[in-house]
Amino acid sequence: MSQPLYPSTRWAWVEIDLEAIRQNTAAFRRCIRRGVKMMCVVKADAYGHGAVRCAQVMRRSGADQFAVATVNEGVQLRNAGIQEPILLLSEPPIDSVRTLVDYDIMPSVYTQEFALALGECAASSGRVARYHLAVDTGMTRIGVNWKDALEFRRSIDFHRGLQCAGTFTHFATADVPGDWDFKAQSDHFAEAVRSIKEAGLECGLVHCDNTPATVLYPELDYDMARVGIGLYGLHPADCTRDHIDLVPAMSVRGRVTRVVEPEVGTGVGYGLTYRVPTPNIQIATVPIGYADGLARELSNRMDVLVNGQRCGQVGRICMDKFMFAMDVNPVRADRPVRPVRYGDTVTIMGADGDEYIGADDIARLRDTINYEVVCDFGLRLERVYV
Ligand SMILES: *Cc1c(COP(=O)(O)O)cnc(C)c1O
Repeated sequence: MSQPLYPSTRWAWVEIDLEAIRQNTAAFRRCIRRGVKMMCVVKADAYGHGAVRCAQVMRRSGADQFAVATVNEGVQLRNAGIQEPILLLSEPPIDSVRTLVDYDIMPSVYTQEFALALGECAASSGRVARYHLAVDTGMTRIGVNWKDALEFRRSIDFHRGLQCAGTFTHFATADVPGDWDFKAQSDHFAEAVRSIKEAGLECGLVHCDNTPATVLYPELDYDMARVGIGLYGLHPADCTRDHIDLVPAMSVRGRVTRVVEPEVGTGVGYGLTYRVPTPNIQIATVPIGYADGLARELSNRMDVLVNGQRCGQVGRICMDKFMFAMDVNPVRADRPVRPVRYGDTVTIMGADGDEYIGADDIARLRDTINYEVVCDFGLRLERVYV
């Protein structure tokens, strides 16, 4: 590792490559047809990558709008000077309508009660609140059932404080090529949009594509695509890999805070689940733990990289620390080994020399998806932008 950048108060950090964010955003901009808008999804602090910094890069690389999951995430973007339209991908508590109007954040809407409260709030200050109609076409998560979309619109459209700026749905199986349920959802959405338009009502921007649908079904772009995970350089499924080149933006690193070479039989960590099996094994400590998103179920199963070498993590991962083992016996090594020293940089996720550990590798060990891996690393670790 050349000259690592790290925070001064803790030898543990997340590195975000903003050039990768820029490249990925530009790649999606090229993938989406001309005239179709790109909404960049920066919920959960941009999937752990830092919403404000990422949004600033994305807006310069082709983002037309942003999407968030909570009211506070939207407020954070506004306070940072983001001026593009912001969509909240859920219907928040009615108590938040004043904040939505004041900060010009468009909620997703699917209950009459919420819609009318929003309209009242806007009208009381001489404004019109823009919202997107969420349509449930088969995922059974949020939205008005697709069969009831027109009726719902008719029940709120009288309100002068409301304007429908968009109509959208979300797919449950866009990452499964040729999936029948995907086709059914897509048909239901088309039907709902058609019924609203035929009744002479304005749908606003019509959108349904997440990352996999944007890549696999370009014909479904409608007026806007909502891209999330791909912007961070990760694929939602193996089937999108052949269609678009992406650069992972997040690496996770720490530095060694202690190295010892214990006697054979010495135990390591809570429960002493690992015991030093032979002489010449270094046990090194890194100050990253499960409170930083390094899931405890990775204990004794994951590898880390140090000085371009792959080492096995040993013992249970603690809340704030973990240990790994470095075999420094030259007789057992297939190539010259470099012993670990205090202060060495350790890569938990990312590249070091010829070695690489990706979010997908960690997700596989944890039996989860790369989305959860990067969100978790956003929990507590300080971020360094490179
Ligand atoms: C999270 C989310 C997205 C983005 O999904 P990706 O798979 O990350 O592209 C799009 N739309 C909605 C409604 C979402 O909740």
